[in-house]
Amino acid sequence: MREKAYDVIIIGGGHAGIEAAMASARLGCKTLMLCMSLETIGQMSCNPAIGGPAKSQLVREIDALGGVMGICADATYLQLKMLNRSKGPAVHALRAQSDKTEYRNFARQLVETETNLSLRQTMAVSLILDGQTVVGVQDSFGIEYPAKAVILTTGTFLNGKLYVGEKCFGGGRPGESASTGLTKCLEDLGLITGRLKTGTPPRIDGRTIDFSNLDIHPGDENPAFFSFLPNRPVLDQLPCHLTRTTEKTHQLIRDNIHRSPMVQGLMEGTGPRYCPSIEEKVTRFADKDSHHLFIEPESRDSYEMYLQGFSSCLPIDVQVAMLRTLPGLENVDMIRPACAVEYDYFPAYQLHPSLMAKNLPGLFMAGQINGTSGYEEAAAQGLVAGINAARYAGDQTPFILTRESSYIGTLIDDLVTKEILEPYRMLTSRSEYRLLLRQDNADARLTPLGREIGLVDDFRWNIFNEKQRRIEEVKIRLKTAKHALGEEERRSFYSLLLRPQVTFEMVQQLDPQFCEVSPDIALFVETEIKYKGYIEKQQKSVSRLSDAHLFKLPGWLDYKGIQQLSNEGREKLAKLKPDTLAQAMRIPGITPADISVLQITLARSRR
Ligand SMILES: Cc1cc2nc3c(=O)[nH]c(=O)nc-3n(C[C@H](O)[C@H](O)[C@H](O)COP(=O)(O)OP(=O)(O)OC[C@H]3O[C@@H](n4cnc5c(N)ncnc54)[C@H](O)[C@@H]3O)c2cc1C
Repeated sequence: MREKAYDVIIIGGGHAGIEAAMASARLGCKTLMLCMSLETIGQMSCNPAIGGPAKSQLVREIDALGGVMGICADATYLQLKMLNRSKGPAVHALRAQSDKTEYRNFARQLVETETNLSLRQTMAVSLILDGQTVVGVQDSFGIEYPAKAVILTTGTFLNGKLYVGEKCFGGGRPGESASTGLTKCLEDLGLITGRLKTGTPPRIDGRTIDFSNLDIHPGDENPAFFSFLPNRPVLDQLPCHLTRTTEKTHQLIRDNIHRSPMVQGLMEGTGPRYCPSIEEKVTRFADKDSHHLFIEPESRDSYEMYLQGFSSCLPIDVQVAMLRTLPGLENVDMIRPACAVEYDYFPAYQLHPSLMAKNLPGLFMAGQINGTSGYEEAAAQGLVAGINAARYAGDQTPFILTRESSYIGTLIDDLVTKEILEPYRMLTSRSEYRLLLRQDNADARLTPLGREIGLVDDFRWNIFNEKQRRIEEVKIRLKTAKHALGEEERRSFYSLLLRPQVTFEMVQQLDPQFCEVSPDIALFVETEIKYKGYIEKQQKSVSRLSDAHLFKLPGWLDYKGIQQLSNEGREKLAKLKPDTLAQAMRIPGITPADISVLQITLARSRR
């Protein structure tokens, strides 16, 4: 059987798949999403939370470009909290504790009601090719789905294996079967694959927890939101609670560590260094006698709780015993055990920055399949892959975000220029332009680009322009209105704000005309004024790089034949085949001498 032809097919309905499908459909492409289970579209496989350091910047950027993750998170929060408020604006980070069930329902409804977007519940097993070009997908029933472009967003499912102690099951997520067939097909087509692993903590019964002596962590009283669009719902917030491991927990882990599938050598994948299991924490930081653990609600309609920081792959009997050593959890019931999942990924240096495979035109990849970890990282790639698959289907040039423009650009640049050997998570320290790439200015940086490519609709565009108009108005008023502080001569509020100790809130107290300025505009204006010098410095280094971005490195360049390159440079360039000189400069091990050899070689070959 052969289905009708689509412009773009997305395989997977996780966080990458949703953004990819919505972007492609909204850009006018006839789009199909193939998904192993429609019930799990938008499933939060692990932590029921969106945002946090560096991830909230990603969510705001997705929203600024016209993506949907911020809207889903705003509509379904259990708690909203701005983290790092006492630190500089570059690291402020919004985090939502999400209602896992509501998030999934909301995401599915968005996908199901989108014009141009169709759904099929089935498992894709292979790609259809015309020469080296990908032109469709075949599913496990043998049905063919022709398409101009295909996006793989299969998450942790490819040959997924779940481990709990000595037990091992095939599965992409607890309760869902693994996806087989695609890895073999891609390997046969010449793609290199690897194995990674990640883990999830146990879910526990909230009715069996004694919260009375645990620290409460409430949400913010007047919370900020992810989306730049207005009309966010005001919902009752639920608190999280804090507990900790004890000496008894650590002793249990030490006594049973030999039963871990990792210690037994049953698992081959590398796990996330930034998100270790509790047994890894206890072993690695042997001098620490306790680790903090957050008890987080999963949904308003459920008593199931998530125990953040307690992921494990020890056997179930050990997990239950460990849980009952935690303060407040002495009588706890475990609803679902912690487990580890191991899966195939495809190192993303095999992709262009558009996320299209270098050797298989028409094939795009996004999300955990590219070696990343986390919903936000997956969604960010999904958005870019969706945009670029639509542009490829419409014969348009790729849409590339540079690392100077965004955390999304930084993420993709890291993926395509570096060998990822452990699950990649976004961190603010990965960006050299942190002060430029704040969550408060994501719309100023990216909404005009989203408009240019057709993803920002009139509603969002009008809101954006109105906000920019108000920002300019406030800046002018700050420059013209004056105030005397104590004995000092009268100064503009603008110059007062340049002082580190003066905040916009103080300006509002001094002059009521600034009281109606909204908190988001106040933060934006204050940051732009206070950090003007640093921001300008970073902007200068960005403009120095722009020539290197324009310097294209042709795909036919035979790096192995350029003798003047260093040995390491020759090997890395031949393997990673960067698209531009700017990308080549960022490959670890490429020296300034290698860069000038490339410039000279290409200048000669052009002559
Ligand atoms: C057990 C577990 C623990 C995790 N722990 C963490 C953690 O600690 N920290 C963290 O940041 N992240 C963690 N994650 C990862 C997080 O869930 C992912 O990063 C994120 O969901 C990836 O999004 P994605 O869209 O790439 O894939 P997913 O959300 O996994 O979605 C994959 C989609 O592809 C579909 N699919 C797969 N194969 C096929 C096929 N052949 N045909 C049709 N459809 C297919 C599936 O049905 C699903 O809809 C964990 C995941 C799991 C499973």
